[in-house]
Amino acid sequence: MKTRAVLLCLAVGAAVFFGCTSRTPVIADVARAADAATVEDARFAVIPASAYPGYPVTVAFSYDSKRLATGQANAAAVADALHKKNLRAVLVSAEGRRLTQAAFFALTLPEENGQAVKAAVMAIPSLSPIGEAAINIESDAGIIQSFPFTIYNRTFDAETIQLDQANTDLRTTSDPKRTAESQHIWAVFNRTGTDVYSWDRFVRPVTSTRRTSPFGSRRIFQYATGARDTTVHNGLDFGVPVGTDVMACARGRVVVARSRIITGMSVVIEHLPGLYSVYYHLDTIDVREGDLVEVGKIVGKSGVTGLVTGPHLHWEIRVSGESADPDAFLSRPVLDKNEILSHLRSGS
Ligand SMILES: [Zn+2]
Repeated sequence: MKTRAVLLCLAVGAAVFFGCTSRTPVIADVARAADAATVEDARFAVIPASAYPGYPVTVAFSYDSKRLATGQANAAAVADALHKKNLRAVLVSAEGRRLTQAAFFALTLPEENGQAVKAAVMAIPSLSPIGEAAINIESDAGIIQSFPFTIYNRTFDAETIQLDQANTDLRTTSDPKRTAESQHIWAVFNRTGTDVYSWDRFVRPVTSTRRTSPFGSRRIFQYATGARDTTVHNGLDFGVPVGTDVMACARGRVVVARSRIITGMSVVIEHLPGLYSVYYHLDTIDVREGDLVEVGKIVGKSGVTGLVTGPHLHWEIRVSGESADPDAFLSRPVLDKNEILSHLRSGS
């Protein structure tokens, strides 16, 4: 047992070799060496290499030395970060400002004999600066590799929303319950799990195509008091009558199914680690937290609950905490197996 551990360590380079010479138990060395050995030839792919604000970007890497990869000097740093579970992809502006980041999760690709591929999915924030940026692969120890990334220009709608006294109070009166609800939903959105429930492109959650407010619109809330506040619309609104069927946009696990002060009857479904779809202002909820739902499953009926000025479905996608443009998920899958593998093979 001990001999095998030492041999593996010698094969995977200095970073792990030092681990072997420490007094950590042999069994831990074996686990670490096995993890490190597989990343001897880590290779990354950023898909796509440019995007509009609101659009998703997948960063993938393979760590099988047999078929997908070529030798790479960053292997020890990647192995170390994987072992410490702090490897991440970070989008930074040209000025070095961190715009968003995402953790890596494991993908299982049966057609590649289960070879190990990891991916991180992020969404370009709708308020991102336009132009040249970068996606860095980094750990707590620093940047391991950096890829150029272009954020295209995009204009968003502007809208002013008049709020009556009741809605003004909802937004402006401090309320411990509302604060607790906010903390809970942020904990959900910022969690990166391990389950990949869906590989497919999403479907619209209602059959209607009548949109009453687009993603990313810059909003001014005009309060009944005369004061005003600015915000960004994080979702896409469908103007549908109360009682309209609302369907899961993809297969996933229901992680929120409850009434909330601002968003009314609310459902959140996890589709990928860190990627969630959100359905707000429902009239009724037909699923429970913990349910596994298939695409098209009716999760509830649309309504007029919470802070609303009329009946509609607010549909939102969250990626590593960032709101993303739902339309971007209707046109193509976030994780495209063939695309990921071809990028990893070609090194682009
Ligand atoms: Zn909305």
